[in-house]
Amino acid sequence: MTSHPLVLATRNAGKIEEFRRILEEIAPGQVELIGLESFPHLGDVEETGNSFEENSLLKARTICQATGISAIADDSGLCVDFLGGDPGIYSARWSGVHGDDKANLEKVLAQLAQIPREKRGAHFTCVTSFVTPTGNEVTQEGILKGYILTEPIGSFGFGYDPIFAPLGNKLSLAQMSAEAKDAISHRGQSLRAIAPRVTQMLAALG
Ligand code: IMP
Repeated sequence: MTSHPLVLATRNAGKIEEFRRILEEIAPGQVELIGLESFPHLGDVEETGNSFEENSLLKARTICQATGISAIADDSGLCVDFLGGDPGIYSARWSGVHGDDKANLEKVLAQLAQIPREKRGAHFTCVTSFVTPTGNEVTQEGILKGYILTEPIGSFGFGYDPIFAPLGNKLSLAQMSAEAKDAISHRGQSLRAIAPRVTQMLAALG
């Protein structure tokens, strides 16, 4: 069986592993996932879109065009009900410093100080996009509903995991194993839903 090349538009090693695990589960041996580290000359794609979908598509289109290979990308973030859906697409830089997870989650906790449990609803969103050099495009959203805890707990995961508990769960995402999180996460859901179409379309490219 032929293995089809697919570039994953991220330099995040954790994401690459997660994509690899899920694609391998759905289409064993059919996809050769290539990380951006194989294209060191490519710069980071600037996220100038106004939605998760726009940013996700922007990344997949840019990388597909630059490499000439089908590309898959995702864009994700935390949406807090009380904050009108913020930090949303600004999740990675909510505190003003890109990628400062601790400062970002502390800002959200401060914004929700004194807010009771019933008003602390939130969800994670992830939109995965797949783009082929022949111009085919597919997007798929995944959502994980939950609520914001009053203080950080747990040491696994990344980002806002220590202050987010999935609905019906008392543990934060940062107290769950990677496998337990993958099984319910916004990223896992969108990737599992898009994966069959990705493998089908890659096979159609020949
Ligand atoms: P991006 O999709 O890599 O642009 O991630 C956006 C930001 O959203 C991350 O830097 C995190 O702050 C947050 N985020 C996205 N997914 C998760 C998650 O699964 N757990 C915790 N934080 C997340």
